[in-house]
Amino acid sequence: MSYQSIQHVLKTAQPGPEVTIKGWVRTKRESKNAVFIAINDGSTINTIQAVAETGQLPEETLKLITTGACLAITGQLVESQGAGQAIEVKIGSVHIYGPADPDKYPLQPKRHSLEFLREIAHLRPRTNTFSAILRVRHTLAFAVHKYFNDNGFFYLNTPIITASDAEGAGEMFRVTTLDATRPPLTEDGKVDYSQDFFGRETNLTVSGQLEGELGAMALGKIYTFGPTFRAENSNTTRHLAEFWMIEPEMAFFELEDNMNLAEDFVKTVIRYALQHCADDLAFLDNRLKEEEKLKKKEEQSDMSLLEKLQFVISNEFQRLTYTEAVEILVNSKPAKKGQFQYEVSWGVDLQSEHERYLVEKHFKKPVILTNYPRDIKAFYMKQDEESDASPGRTVRAMDVLFPGIGEIIGGSQREDDYEKLTTRMKEVGIETDALWWYLDTRRFGSAPHAGFGLGFERLVLFVTGMGNIRDVIPFPRAPKTAEF
Ligand code: ATP
Ligand code: MG
Ligand code: MG
Ligand code: MG
Repeated sequence: MSYQSIQHVLKTAQPGPEVTIKGWVRTKRESKNAVFIAINDGSTINTIQAVAETGQLPEETLKLITTGACLAITGQLVESQGAGQAIEVKIGSVHIYGPADPDKYPLQPKRHSLEFLREIAHLRPRTNTFSAILRVRHTLAFAVHKYFNDNGFFYLNTPIITASDAEGAGEMFRVTTLDATRPPLTEDGKVDYSQDFFGRETNLTVSGQLEGELGAMALGKIYTFGPTFRAENSNTTRHLAEFWMIEPEMAFFELEDNMNLAEDFVKTVIRYALQHCADDLAFLDNRLKEEEKLKKKEEQSDMSLLEKLQFVISNEFQRLTYTEAVEILVNSKPAKKGQFQYEVSWGVDLQSEHERYLVEKHFKKPVILTNYPRDIKAFYMKQDEESDASPGRTVRAMDVLFPGIGEIIGGSQREDDYEKLTTRMKEVGIETDALWWYLDTRRFGSAPHAGFGLGFERLVLFVTGMGNIRDVIPFPRAPKTAEF
């Protein structure tokens, strides 16, 4: 039996034809003369109302039509008498695929807490909030591919199981076929990885960048968009152990070009979501407004979700160096009153509270910070000769900072000078032998190049206005969460 999606039926909104719709019951309401059933099939945030006259449906059928039950309804589209909807379905026949025992079904037509919904992540896509988030997530993913395709980038898939630690931060999940309780040992008592499947130590990737650079040095402009893993203690509202990262890498790009691209990219994909997810974003905007009302006055945000999205797409991002930012932060009110949780000083990485202060209070614009101290950044960033700090102390890094989140993008121009790169690797204790393939791009036909990484879930978090990154991925993986 064919059927029409509710999104399609509501969009056409013409009374007259007979339709079949299939979906899950959201609510059932009985009045003296009629039964009203609200049905949603996930294609849209909206429900369609189906109406039967009292006594029309057999008692056994009516009993099974409860919140969460799955059914098909065939009937004529008629003009609706009710407010808020143009059309409804005058029920001809009902087929029940699967009932949902109302005494046991965990989702009821009321507002459930996000904490509770996190415990039933397998069912939460059936709620308005989560179906809206998942549709926005889909649209953003599509917009990402579209943006790069439209701008001459090639989609490159980099390894998920890899021998390299791109960030050198030691936050990797080990992948091994060896028996963890009794691994084979070498003569000097170390684990003998030569007996492992790949013949050496391997991990889940923390970034596709190093391999992405190989692509850029052949195809010009590439991007990766794949699963990324970090075994960090990610018990924050902005970190996941498994997330999706978007990493463009461009030959012949310097830091300035990289910043221009990052700014244009995020603005374009957010604009795309505003155009193509208007209903879902209006719903999420409204949801957030209701949530804000429940908060104490001083904790309320001064911007609504839609205002925040406008704030990003309509402002030119403020660009300044890390050194300038530290100066501002040290002289800021919260620093003087000791209101920051962490103290700011040159050479220490900024925390999200500092990043947010710059964006929300000081500049009132999204911010791009550049030229970070090299000791707090990864080995592959290009050393800065002409920065405001003494030469060599900073690198050509950039972080893009957003309201409510702080860092959303981290990127840099890459060190393309073989001597400088290998010297730096030795200084920070990275084996040059293990990365011989990476160094080959500097030995043969090296070129200036740059790129950045955007955590896809940070983008979805921002666009949906949610407060916790675990609520913008279908199956969140964080410490102590492994239902799936
Ligand atoms: P943070 O300072 O927030 O921990 P980072 O500087 O460690 O981020 P990078 O190594 O620069 O992160 O990674 C690039 C981007 O990947 C970040 O700007 C962020 O958007 C995203 N990202 C990093 N770690 C995570 C994580 N654990 N979960 C989700 N997204 C992440
Ligand atoms: Mg981190
Ligand atoms: Mg950071
Ligand atoms: Mg970073």
